[in-house]
Amino acid sequence: MDEVGKIKQELERTKTELAILYEISNAMRTTLRLEEILYIILTGVTAHIGLGFNRALLFLVNEKENLIEGKMGIGPESGEEANLIWTRVEQEQMDMDDLISAYKAKGDIPDTRFNQQVRRVKIPVKDQSGGLLALGVLDGMPLLLTKETIQSYAHDPIIQLLKSDELVVAPLKAKDKVNGIILADNFITRKPITKDDIRMLIMLANQAGLAIENSQLYEKAVTRAHSDSLTELWNHGYFQYLLQSELEKAKVTKKPLTLIMIDIDNFKVYNDALGHQSGDKILKALATLIKNQSRKMDYVCRYGGEEFTVILPQTDKKESFLIAERLRSDIEKFPFLNEEMLPDNKLTVSIGISSYPEDCLTPADLVSLTDKALYTAKQKGKNNTCCCPAAA
Ligand code: GH3
Ligand code: MG
Ligand code: MG
Repeated sequence: MDEVGKIKQELERTKTELAILYEISNAMRTTLRLEEILYIILTGVTAHIGLGFNRALLFLVNEKENLIEGKMGIGPESGEEANLIWTRVEQEQMDMDDLISAYKAKGDIPDTRFNQQVRRVKIPVKDQSGGLLALGVLDGMPLLLTKETIQSYAHDPIIQLLKSDELVVAPLKAKDKVNGIILADNFITRKPITKDDIRMLIMLANQAGLAIENSQLYEKAVTRAHSDSLTELWNHGYFQYLLQSELEKAKVTKKPLTLIMIDIDNFKVYNDALGHQSGDKILKALATLIKNQSRKMDYVCRYGGEEFTVILPQTDKKESFLIAERLRSDIEKFPFLNEEMLPDNKLTVSIGISSYPEDCLTPADLVSLTDKALYTAKQKGKNNTCCCPAAA
């Protein structure tokens, strides 16, 4: 090929590359939801019409806990699966937009075994034993592991998981700080990773790091707006929203839902004697205790002053009663500061319970029946759990 031909070819390739990057960064701008951003990034890395790697994995740095956590992994697990996916994408002539819309319609990526394995990865950043991922974060430089150099990482948990023979590590950055890592390989086709592949991945990673940071800041702001500043639990307004939306889900899935309301016994005595600031410390400690003792699927909220609510999806009254009683007894046993000054020398709570569909069908009725049950618990002498009177 003559010189002009070469330059023309080079120009064509650059044009295609720019178009791909443009399309991916545009897609990233369509959403602030972190999950969606991650999916768009990895689709860009793996799609034929994107960077065309066989597999891509994304890890984020959890600064609070100093961990690198696996967030998403996309890629076929076998040659057959690869053929199936790639043929479909080609036959249906799916472009980046189609691939992303297909995801948005489903609301989730297929939770493959590969994705689950990636999501289980948690590796300390500082530790020497952090291996390849920690190196990527601390170094902040892209790295190509070739057939030869990958040998020295043979025992690295990530290499053991991926079984790659060639792999690129690309750090994601926002304001000069590494906030994540992308790994990409050609596990199925064994196509050698070229300099151009790496260059494209680095350009994409630079955009991706910023998009991830933006979305994390946005999600933080949304969470803050829905949280109570003293206890960091969901606030009253968000509780109302959660109750309504969880109840709608319960109706669709034909599953029960229970609402628990917790009120501190004789809290006025504590406040009057020790002051509101000491009272606030108790509210904080109690909120942490309730949160720690509840399940991941439950929503713990601060309903008002010293009243808390817990929404228990997919849980009937019988099971919720056991959960509430365990919680009440844990609170009774917990050594709260200066609790000796309270009647009975300890801090206790009263709890009310009512359930959908056993007791009622609407959010307003659930709140009012749970409140009534709580009142009954107080009447019975406090430090008690009572179910909605209808079935009590
Ligand atoms: P009971 O056993 O009947 O619940 O008695 P109680 O004294 O706890 O009465 P009530 O449930 O009506 O509690 C109201 C008291 O809770 C008033 C106030 O002293 C305290 N309280 C409410 N909100 C706050 C708050 O945000 N901070 C503090 N420190 N105390 C609060
Ligand atoms: Mg109260
Ligand atoms: Mg009270």
